[in-house]
Amino acid sequence: MAADASSAPASQPALRHDWTRAEVEALFALPFNDLLFQAQGLHRQYHQPNSVQLSTLLSIKTGACPEDCAYCPQSVRFETGLKKEPLLDVEVVLEAAREAKDNGATRFCMGAAWRSPKDRDLERVEAMVRGVKAMGLETCVTLGMLKPAQAERLAGAGLDYYNHNLDTSPEYYGKIISTRTYEDRLDTLANVRAAGVKVCCGGIVGMGEEQSDRAGLLQQLANLSPHPESVPINDLVQVAGTPLKGADALGGIEFVRVIAVARILMPASYVRLSAGRTAMSDETQALAFFAGANSIFYGEKLLTTENPQNARDRALLVQLGIQTEGAVAPAASAEASASCGAGAAAASTSCCG
Ligand code: SF4
Repeated sequence: MAADASSAPASQPALRHDWTRAEVEALFALPFNDLLFQAQGLHRQYHQPNSVQLSTLLSIKTGACPEDCAYCPQSVRFETGLKKEPLLDVEVVLEAAREAKDNGATRFCMGAAWRSPKDRDLERVEAMVRGVKAMGLETCVTLGMLKPAQAERLAGAGLDYYNHNLDTSPEYYGKIISTRTYEDRLDTLANVRAAGVKVCCGGIVGMGEEQSDRAGLLQQLANLSPHPESVPINDLVQVAGTPLKGADALGGIEFVRVIAVARILMPASYVRLSAGRTAMSDETQALAFFAGANSIFYGEKLLTTENPQNARDRALLVQLGIQTEGAVAPAASAEASASCGAGAAAASTSCCG
């Protein structure tokens, strides 16, 4: 097994970037309790077991996106009744960031519905990044595809994380999006890495894919080197008017399996419960935390779809004895030190990954 031993402390297993599809499918095939036991064991070697990180996500430019992501109400191609909004003013965004910080978020994620940003738009986004960072929050943006020079500009503004999701397996991808390729996405991720910005990259489940596609998505993510620091896993929120309205929904047990396999493949990364939590029972979320999820989107809206209310989240975390990051010193991790925010969430609902 080729392993990234150099980046893992001696007490932790080496991180791998050479997972085969058969190995990942074999993890999915484990008895549920065995899978969760393995995932929880690894989780404890890399992270504080009773801590989650909170991120808040704001849509800074809504709707009218030319892409055709079949899950997304922000695509201009689908009639979803979504209210479009142009790029927000910097001060509006900073006010939202202040509120997020007051509510306990440590990361503020900003999502814009673009195929890729225009250079003139980047100027305002850079000002947002600088302003949010000056408040002591970590910053993440999701703006679509990025060229190397654009990634460098964002890095220069102090951006911590860039979200860009792979969405699904390479095989299923063509059924979801036709306006950009898997390779385009990998190129953007490479540009972000080359600029020295951390990567937030995950996907969406419950889009009618097979379990082997879920394995394929996680295999792709786990074979990125280094692993994405943050891995948002979205459970599709079906929106009327999008092609995926009516897709076969994923059960809670299978969703928890996805979280557990992600934790095993990328033990040092933050795994985030993203879109879809509103419809999830407390018990499913509790199992997902046991399986290794250690980050959530916190706030009442994820770009354009609903998210559990703050009070419900607080009550659940108290019930589970889970503290929020900042209250607990994070465990040392080899490759990843934090989760990212944005696109993740969006994924099922909209985003720009
Ligand atoms: S997911 Fe992002 S890129 Fe795709 S249609 Fe929605 S806003 Fe556009």
